[in-house]
Amino acid sequence: MSRFWSPLVHDLVPYVPGEQPKLVNLVKLNTNEHPWGPSPRVIEAIQAEVSANLRLYPDPNADALKNKLADYHGVTAEQVFVGNGSDEVLAHIFYGLFQHGKPVLFPDITYSFYPVYSGLYGIEARLIPLDEQFAVRPEDYSGDCGGIIFPNPNAPTGRLMPLADIETIAANNPDVPVVVDEAYVDFGGESAIQLVDRYPNLLVTQTLSKSRSLAGLRVGFAIGHADLIEALERVKNSFNSYPLDRLAIVGAVAAYEDETYFREATDYVIRERERVTAALQTLGFEVLPSVANFVLARHPGIAGADIAAGLRERSIIVRHFNKPRIENHLRITIGSTEQNDALLGALPEIV
Ligand code: PMP
Repeated sequence: MSRFWSPLVHDLVPYVPGEQPKLVNLVKLNTNEHPWGPSPRVIEAIQAEVSANLRLYPDPNADALKNKLADYHGVTAEQVFVGNGSDEVLAHIFYGLFQHGKPVLFPDITYSFYPVYSGLYGIEARLIPLDEQFAVRPEDYSGDCGGIIFPNPNAPTGRLMPLADIETIAANNPDVPVVVDEAYVDFGGESAIQLVDRYPNLLVTQTLSKSRSLAGLRVGFAIGHADLIEALERVKNSFNSYPLDRLAIVGAVAAYEDETYFREATDYVIRERERVTAALQTLGFEVLPSVANFVLARHPGIAGADIAAGLRERSIIVRHFNKPRIENHLRITIGSTEQNDALLGALPEIV
């Protein structure tokens, strides 16, 4: 801490991202990246843009991407907001949509960035406990609040909430934004985007970091009523007029032009997830049924931290959270067949 720091910064508790190790020979199963690279079309589009246009500012509105996403998801371009990763989109949601002075509701076990944004903007975070099966109970999300947010599927549990439950939450809270963070929806979930025309308070966010293999490009978006999007545009234009650079815009557009690759890439992860789940169960793990590109698992006989440490000694990195109820669990990203085999080969030496 320094006397040169603003008082606002003294009390910030920042998000701690999963480790991004520099070593290349690690089996990296800790931050839910896709084991495949992006579609070759993405690479071509980015290379062409590098050659042609880098001296020019990007389109501040990223219209090409908004139009592409609008077409793809069956909405209008006015219903689409794009940002530098869905983390940035979520930050703008906390600032520009949630009513400050009232609590924001989200599950007690969920994406750890939500409490961080709450702290950043001085919004009270009200954590709603998941049930015994780690499911969201929709009836718990009501009362006087400034907004509601949850991932679907939830992270790090991987559990999916039915769309009917999302409708219940949106209908029970018509006066506040209800945000569904669909970072992992493409691995077996059903998107709530189809509901946004029915619920003007419903906003859905997605990312290209997971199912589109573009975590390094930093592109995320939100889809909802044009009024909600307008608020996000105001925040964005008061913060950074060019959140998406030229490479991100052309690369993201190209990602939505290769549906075949997208299907193959997501099907691969789903198949591997089912294989890894069954193999972990054979090793004595309890694995929560996941529709994401990771699984949350615990072994009854040995502490999660010890398993994570044992894997690390074998150059395999998974995520361990020091949080109540899941302190003995590991969140394991579904990697390539070879990476998953390395994990499954190492575990019998530890558990
Ligand atoms: N939401 C959830 C639930 C996530 O797990 C992540 C990835 N850490 C994000 C949003 C943010 O993803 P990105 O900023 O890469 O779009």
